[in-house]
Amino acid sequence: MNSDLVELLAKLVRIPSVNPMGLAAADSDLLYECRLTDFLAEWLRERGILIGRQLVEELPDGRRRENLLARFDAGDESPKERPLLLWEVHQDTVPVEGMTIEPFAAEVWDGRLYGRGACDVKGGMAAMLTALARLAREQPAGCANVVLALTVNEEHGFSGASALSGCWREIDEFRDIFPRRPAACVVAEPTDLDVVVAHKGVVRWNCHTRGRAVHSSRPQDGENAIYKMAPVLSAFARYADEVVASLGEDPLCGRPSLSVGTIHGGTSVNTVPDGCTVAIDRRLLPGESPEAAQRHAMDYVSAQVGPEAVAGDAPTILSPGLESTENAELAARLGELARRHGARGDNVGVPYGTDAAILARGGLPTVVFGPGSIEQAHTKDEWVELAEVERASEIYYELAATYSV
Ligand SMILES: [Zn+2]
Repeated sequence: MNSDLVELLAKLVRIPSVNPMGLAAADSDLLYECRLTDFLAEWLRERGILIGRQLVEELPDGRRRENLLARFDAGDESPKERPLLLWEVHQDTVPVEGMTIEPFAAEVWDGRLYGRGACDVKGGMAAMLTALARLAREQPAGCANVVLALTVNEEHGFSGASALSGCWREIDEFRDIFPRRPAACVVAEPTDLDVVVAHKGVVRWNCHTRGRAVHSSRPQDGENAIYKMAPVLSAFARYADEVVASLGEDPLCGRPSLSVGTIHGGTSVNTVPDGCTVAIDRRLLPGESPEAAQRHAMDYVSAQVGPEAVAGDAPTILSPGLESTENAELAARLGELARRHGARGDNVGVPYGTDAAILARGGLPTVVFGPGSIEQAHTKDEWVELAEVERASEIYYELAATYSV
């Protein structure tokens, strides 16, 4: 086992980078990526790797959420012909509430490292960082140029990846890092070292019913917004059961889906509620338009309950799926390397969303590949198998070392 890799992963897990997921935060010391970004910048600088920092969001207290871009330059021998490989990994983790282990202790038992983010996705991050440092150290002949992008806010809105995708399209500031468009992109997420070539997208939005509040002793004088939500919910349930499943099926990702996730209404039991809100989560087929999917659902529900009865907001989250139209060649190379290292390396589709869909827009061949299983991501005792992290690091390294167009 590579002890540098284990030590690095432990350090990454010990630096909290919790995404508040849009909620007001109780313990703001654990929140946001800033401290991890500083650690990563220092770690890369110590290894002589060129870095750039891209501001994605400035917080009210002045802290900055920044993508960190690190470039490995394979030397100046015919640099124009060298393909540029993009590796991407997110810095944020989900919150720690309900965890049964100490989230930031990074303890190792039985070849597994435990902690929040160990699997999603600091294991993949450690693998990419060590692979990049090894490229810089060994300078393998014929190697591709590599940019490792460590992005913010994947778990709640993909804003880091959206900003990153602007770097090679319109932002001059990062010309030394992205002199041209990447030739291919590998996104680290826990995939069990299978190659994710397609995944679903998602669109989420809130729906409201309105009523008129009166004292609950005289309900006949008011309008109950919660009662008004009941037929809306029945319509969504019918839509989910009878309509969404018939909208198509992807050979790798299966069928689309819709679920109502939360409901909020009323202020007290002795007041007729004047408002009720539900949150909708609609999972999209790769290639399905998020906007059209929302419109289709709202048109169906409005037709069932009447157009005045319910109002839908603009999406709170909107992310397309990843399509397997452009990435076959990249997937084949990566699968082959994975198999050579004893992993399955199958092409698969998954139901969850990633930054890959954002980066793939505009035809950049993109796959998702990394150590750890999605079954351990976000769990109360999150862990990653260290041998798999090491294997991933070797595979990332070899992909860059052998990548040519
Ligand atoms: Zn993740």
